[in-house]
Amino acid sequence: MPEQRFNCTACGKCCYGLLPLTLEDAFANACRFPLAMAWMPVRQASRSYEMYAKLGAIIQLPGQKVATLIAPVAYIPPSLSCPSLSPENLCSIHESKPLRCRTMPFYPYREERDQSDILVPRKGWLCDTSPLAPPIYRDRKIIDITSFDLERKALLKDAPILSAYAARLLMQNHVVMKMLIDTATRQAAGQFVVSFYSFLRLNKKYDLIAFAKKQTPVLKEFSEKTAAMPALAVFHKYYHAAAEELGWFAREG
Ligand code: SF4
Ligand code: SF4
Repeated sequence: MPEQRFNCTACGKCCYGLLPLTLEDAFANACRFPLAMAWMPVRQASRSYEMYAKLGAIIQLPGQKVATLIAPVAYIPPSLSCPSLSPENLCSIHESKPLRCRTMPFYPYREERDQSDILVPRKGWLCDTSPLAPPIYRDRKIIDITSFDLERKALLKDAPILSAYAARLLMQNHVVMKMLIDTATRQAAGQFVVSFYSFLRLNKKYDLIAFAKKQTPVLKEFSEKTAAMPALAVFHKYYHAAAEELGWFAREG
């Protein structure tokens, strides 16, 4: 496919579900998004494996080494919208939205040459890819690479910090190691999340109390919002436990 076209019609359909963030975006949006740390082992045969390895951590599991992407995320169920999506389906923080949203539909966790298939809108998304839309990708190169470069640079900057966190957490926490082994050995690709607090606990440079004050009300709000939704019990359990954990620090400050 030598050239692909794309135009965002602002339908808001991609503003649902889990949103990967840079560390800076996660901290900047602690008063908005319920945060978690997502861990995603990547198979060696995967497209852009080398890039995933560079942006993530190489972790020794029994009998194999795996590249694992570790990313702060807005941990939102696929059926719920981002809290910053307005009732008119527009981004209410457009001017300061996270890098991930700016780079859409490109995905800098993959090599520039491997973007083609993600430029095809998912079912239900109303992106315009008709001949009337502007060309954005030609001969496996992004025509305006500005946002992609910015997000890639931020991810490369975060990588050693997240990799060090992963190594320390795995040394201390056998439950996380077991989740990683289970996910890495499953047939289908997958990911799991652990609390954002697990990151703060191992990185004293961040102000835990200031963070807890911003994040606890968001977790509580999502906990209440999902309490009567049995299909979202896993999310509810996470929000509730994370709010309890951070609430203690929020009260301390
Ligand atoms: S921050 Fe804005 S663009 Fe990003 S997911 Fe939320 S509503 Fe959508
Ligand atoms: S799904 Fe496509 S058209 Fe809709 S907001 Fe997202 S990028 Fe824009």
